[in-house]
Amino acid sequence: MRIAVLNRDRCQPKKCTYECQRFCPRVRTGDATVIIGDDGKPIISEELCVGCGICIKKCPFGAITIIGLPEELREMETHRYGANGFALYGLPIPQKGKVTGILGPNGIGKSTAVRILAGALKPNLGEENPSWDEIIGRYRGSELQEYMRKLSKDKLLAVQKPQDIDLLASRSSKVSEFLKGVDERGMLNELLTRLDIEHVLDRRLSELSGGELQRLAIVACAARDADFYFFDEITPYLDIHQRIKAARLIQELAEKRTIVIVEHDLAILDLLADAVHIAYGTPGAYGVITHPKGIRVGINEYLRGFLPEENIRIRPREIKFEVHAPRVQKGIPPLVKFDAFTKKYPGFVLDAKGGEILKGEVLGIVGPNAIGKSTFAKVLAGVIMPDVGSIDLKVKISYKPQYLRGVDVTVETLLRSATKELGTSHYNTEVIVPLQLERLLDQSVAELSGGELQRVAIATCLSREADLYILDEPSAHLDVEQRTLATRMMRRFAENNEVSILVVDHDIYMIDLLSDRLMVFEGEPGKRGEALGPFDMRDGMNRFLKSADITFRRDEDTKRPRVNKPDSRLDREQKAKGEYYYQ
Ligand code: ADP
Ligand code: ADP
Ligand code: MG
Repeated sequence: MRIAVLNRDRCQPKKCTYECQRFCPRVRTGDATVIIGDDGKPIISEELCVGCGICIKKCPFGAITIIGLPEELREMETHRYGANGFALYGLPIPQKGKVTGILGPNGIGKSTAVRILAGALKPNLGEENPSWDEIIGRYRGSELQEYMRKLSKDKLLAVQKPQDIDLLASRSSKVSEFLKGVDERGMLNELLTRLDIEHVLDRRLSELSGGELQRLAIVACAARDADFYFFDEITPYLDIHQRIKAARLIQELAEKRTIVIVEHDLAILDLLADAVHIAYGTPGAYGVITHPKGIRVGINEYLRGFLPEENIRIRPREIKFEVHAPRVQKGIPPLVKFDAFTKKYPGFVLDAKGGEILKGEVLGIVGPNAIGKSTFAKVLAGVIMPDVGSIDLKVKISYKPQYLRGVDVTVETLLRSATKELGTSHYNTEVIVPLQLERLLDQSVAELSGGELQRVAIATCLSREADLYILDEPSAHLDVEQRTLATRMMRRFAENNEVSILVVDHDIYMIDLLSDRLMVFEGEPGKRGEALGPFDMRDGMNRFLKSADITFRRDEDTKRPRVNKPDSRLDREQKAKGEYYYQ
């Protein structure tokens, strides 16, 4: 079975001469394999297309994909966005009293699946407008049958927390107005207190930080009284404390309700969800939602890159974790030493002890929000000056800020301004392929999505010639796959080029996989921060997790870190030994 997919956003009929149609060998023999639709864009007939792939190569905009699909999927088509549109196979099965996760890359159909479950999109089973009876019939005998029946009768109330909370920031309304009417369970005040955001009630949405908006959006959703709740990512902009608090709040909500979440922070997904569906396929073309797996097994299969039940390899390589802290390598020369400094803002002061950054190392930076991590990064990068002490590292520095802004030039132009290497095969393998930038090169940076902009910003930062690279929260907006690729790429980059990298991030898996040593920020968020270290990984993790009051155990099979239940036997034992992470 073959499906042809036309990415309608990329197709630009005004700028081309229908090469896809002109060069289709079947068209030349008189078959109408490629016809032009009402919107001027081509439609490829799936009956007639032989999958030769010529149109894919001829399209100057990379808009066409042709995919061979396993026969078994034929009966599973849940939804198709029109002729040659994205196709979704399978559906997650929401369960009352449980949190069900969906784990998979962006563009694989997770939101589509959720819109179907929330009753916002009637699934078409890949056909022309099927009746509800046909749809319910499709799920006969499965738990989805009853669910679909309720949906068809409009008897299901669904609420959702959208992924893109930045959209909220463009509203000038007051927080109290935004929350008007959501207090359906009479718990609003308690929820606000639990996520520490009572203080924002009198402000305007446009004045809130990313982390405040995220927590507000979670509260607004959880305060409602619905049957079905969907949370599309809860961790962006939150520190590990806030992530865990939000996860616990959602777990309690699930006691009597049905919850589906999408989450790319694996440590949090693991803590939060009872079961997980893995979504795989080709982003933008088709996606398959697997049957539910237990959360532990599901994440393990995902990390191994192989789904045994489905017999599908989703990644060529396994993702592995270190059980023991990496050995401290002695005798590596420092790249730079920096002196102690102080930076003050009205109401906030950051004190940093002096330290050194070793040649070729990746130095991780962890700590709660509003403690001065970005301020520290900016001082080292020379973007701002300290108030006490002076920092002049005398090495070349390339810096990626936390908050990114799109400029109106193409990605290619932007990268060319940073490097002469663009277009070489070396640059391709080192940067373009792992950051999945091939298809973005001719797009305007101003029009990119959050995840695309992040990958372009990482690429631009690493493309400049420098001795020290400083990246502030590179995991933000990336899916698990992209985090993994970016992590591996940054490590390789430091090793191959013998340059040093400083990375601020909240994703504990990413920090563990990336860093050789750690700096830990402590203090009182929003008031004062202290930059400590660098420490070796064991000391750094212990220090950081102790202040966050969290311990991790190891999964028996994959050795990946898993958050311990507070006050469980392991939690108490590890705290007593002072081993919060590496055992
Ligand atoms: P995810 O949530 O996994 O990122 P989505 O379900 O949002 O994925 O999207 C999957 C694919 O479906 C994307 O390639 C997107 O372009 C396409 N798509 C989403 N909504 C529509 C729509 N209304 N019409 C046509 N295509 C759509
Ligand atoms: P982190 O990166 O750890 O979240 P930041 O370094 O961004 O923290 O901010 C630390 C504190 O300094 C916060 O309370 C923030 O509001 C404040 N702050 C940061 N930049 C400025 C600025 N330009 N003017 C005033 N206050 C600032
Ligand atoms: Mg920051």
